[in-house]
Amino acid sequence: MTDKEGPVVTLDGPAGSGKSSTAHEVSRRLKFRHLDSGALYRALTLALLQRGIAQQDWPVVSETDLLDLDVDIQPTTDGFIVLVGGHRVDAELRSPEVTAGVSHLAKLPAVRASLLELQRRAGTHGRLVADGRDMGTVVFPHAEVKVFLVADVEERARRRMREQGAIEGDVEELERQVQAIEARDRRDSERELSPLRRAADAHEIDTTRLDFDHQVEEIISLVYRLTTP
Ligand code: C5P
Repeated sequence: MTDKEGPVVTLDGPAGSGKSSTAHEVSRRLKFRHLDSGALYRALTLALLQRGIAQQDWPVVSETDLLDLDVDIQPTTDGFIVLVGGHRVDAELRSPEVTAGVSHLAKLPAVRASLLELQRRAGTHGRLVADGRDMGTVVFPHAEVKVFLVADVEERARRRMREQGAIEGDVEELERQVQAIEARDRRDSERELSPLRRAADAHEIDTTRLDFDHQVEEIISLVYRLTTP
């Protein structure tokens, strides 16, 4: 017997591949919940920075210390809010300091262990779209639908610039963004634990030349195709 009310859909991919916005829209249309797992790694990073714990000391922080930082999620009708010490966090998770530090923290075994149960709990009843780096490989290996999004690094950098309101055509800024994204991709793909990689049973979608609506529709039809008897 299972108390699942519907499938789990995983969406993994590198920085700037459009995972979060796509997962958000797919879950909205399917009336599922959206779990942005990157927000949890960002919340731990924020909590450590707020406590003044320097990056060079992160490797010695124990799993118990991390659990004491009290990063949690609370279900809403369409997703989850992220809490640190009982307080809701949101925009501060995307600050440049958090973005620069997060992939250094995310490679640590204690960090990954401290967030695993929290993420799995979010999927207990199904009807979930979870996005991240290891949703289909480690957190939800039995998910009914797995998607791996890819896109050219320059296109991903342009998307980041648009999000941040940078001037389109600023070649130096584009180069800076490409380098920052490539460095984060490298850290996420080359780490020993839960590296960014496509699950063997994931469907790869290249979003470089796909517009947002098509990308969302492709995933929704995949969900129907794989989950309707
Ligand atoms: O998706 P987002 O860019 O917010 O993720 C921030 C960082 O969190 C990633 O660069 C990665 O280091 C880490 N992360 C992870 N595993 C996930 C989600 C995010 O390691 N499932």
